[in-house]
Amino acid sequence: MIKISNTSKLNARSWSLQALDTCPGSISSPGVLVDACQGCYATTGNYNYPNVKAPRLSNREDWQRMDWVSDMVCELDQDRYFRWFDSGDMYSLGLAEKILEVMRLTPWCNHWLPTRMHKFPKFSLVLREMQTLDNVMVRFSSDSIVGEYIEGLHGSVIGPDAETFQARDNVKLCEAYAHGGNCNGCRACWDKSVQLIAYPAHGRKMMKVIRIKTA
Ligand code: SF4
Repeated sequence: MIKISNTSKLNARSWSLQALDTCPGSISSPGVLVDACQGCYATTGNYNYPNVKAPRLSNREDWQRMDWVSDMVCELDQDRYFRWFDSGDMYSLGLAEKILEVMRLTPWCNHWLPTRMHKFPKFSLVLREMQTLDNVMVRFSSDSIVGEYIEGLHGSVIGPDAETFQARDNVKLCEAYAHGGNCNGCRACWDKSVQLIAYPAHGRKMMKVIRIKTA
């Protein structure tokens, strides 16, 4: 059975998997996570509660069902904005192809898919096909936590603070931090005309990683 999570910050629903277990792009070398994943919000706090883990573990099996695509299409009947992977990533090519099918069959719904799977060449075709759809914004996440990104490749990056991104062209600064952590009606992450979203770091774990990396 499909299990959807509600991300109240975004005012949009999400389909998610367990962080790190399904994030091959989080590994920079054996046993070492990329900087952005060392401070991942989805590995602490609420995300460790059994009732939060259970749907993510269930979804990992569930997507392999024959009827999963049609069930997802029905599930999204009322959604106008949907986020893939509040936690986890699109670890399997089979899953990616099914998500592409869901995106194609739900033109009424705007899909935002953040991912690190662009690091693996076998995903390039399916990611390209997703990005050609008018209702889909795929954002390749930079591994940096100090605001570094490759122009034309990355669609999102984390930085230590808002000041890091001031006076940078083609960058939309996420202002959720100014609204108590809520999007407050902003839909920039879904907007195909926005090339890069810059997220000021938040959360104790991420701030600690930044302190260590920039010391
Ligand atoms: S950029 Fe806008 S839509 Fe994206 S997380 Fe920030 S406030 Fe929400």
